[in-house]
Amino acid sequence: MSMQDMKFVQNFMKMTNDAWLKGWHERNGGNISYRLTSENVESIKNIIDENRDYSPIGVTVKNLANEYFLVTGSGKFIRNVAVDLEANVGIVKIDEKGENYKVVWGLVNGAKPTSELPSHLMSHSVKFEATNGNHRVIMHSHATNLIALTFVLPLDGAVFTRELWEMATECPVVFPSGVGIVPWMVPGGAEIAEATSELMKKHDVVIWAYHGVFCSGEDLDLTFGLMDTVEKSAEILVKVLSMGGKRQTISSDNFRDLARDFNVTISEEYLK
Ligand SMILES: [Zn+2]
Repeated sequence: MSMQDMKFVQNFMKMTNDAWLKGWHERNGGNISYRLTSENVESIKNIIDENRDYSPIGVTVKNLANEYFLVTGSGKFIRNVAVDLEANVGIVKIDEKGENYKVVWGLVNGAKPTSELPSHLMSHSVKFEATNGNHRVIMHSHATNLIALTFVLPLDGAVFTRELWEMATECPVVFPSGVGIVPWMVPGGAEIAEATSELMKKHDVVIWAYHGVFCSGEDLDLTFGLMDTVEKSAEILVKVLSMGGKRQTISSDNFRDLARDFNVTISEEYLK
C-alpha cells in the first residue's frame, strides 16, 4: 500500500480539503499536525526512510520522544494537500531527547515542516500530558470571524468564552474548558509556542489575536468539528453585533442547567 492509501492519511487529506473549502486557509495560511498511533507507524514502516538527518525543533518536547507526526509543510497551501501529498506534507520523527526532528517521508525537494512546528509540538506535548495521550491533533486556521472578533472584544479568554457560548447552545458542551487568548506576537518561534502551550494546559481552543486560532483534539474529525463550532459561533456573534447587538440571550442559570443535563463541568468563572 502507498502512503495515500492509508486510512489516517485519507482522513487527513479530507480534513485539509474541507478546511480549505471553509475558507480558513488562504494561500499558505494555517497548518495541521497529527500524532501517529503505533498501528499507523507499524503500517508505514516499509514506506518510510529513517536515514535522513535530524534538525533542531527549537524547543524541547521530552514526552514526545520517538513519536511520529504527519505535518503540513512550510509555505505549502492547504488546498494542495489532497492534490499532491508528498510535496505538501511530511511525516517527521522526534529524536530520543525531544529536541530534534527528521523527515521520514514526504516534503520532497527540500521542503520543511510548517514554521509553526514549535507551537504544534509544544501544544502536543502539553496535551499529551493533560489527556494521557488521548489528544493527537493540533490544527491552526485563519478562521475569519474569530479573527474579526479579536479587533472588537477585549482580549480576555473569559469574555471570549462567554460571548461564544451564548451564540450557540451546543458550545459549552463542545468546548466546556473555554478559549484562551494569546495577544499579538510574532508567529513562528519559541516565544509564541510557549504562550500557546501554556494556555493549552487549560483550553482546547487558543486564539491568536489578529491572526488565527489553534484547536486540539483526539482525532481529525473532532478537531475539525471543534474548529467549525467555534468559528460558526464567532460568525453568529459577528452578525449579531452587526445588527446592533444582543436584545436577549442565554443566562448563566440556563448554562448551569445545560451543564447538569449534559453532564459537563463548566467553570463558574464563565457564569458571572
Ligand atoms: Zn497562521
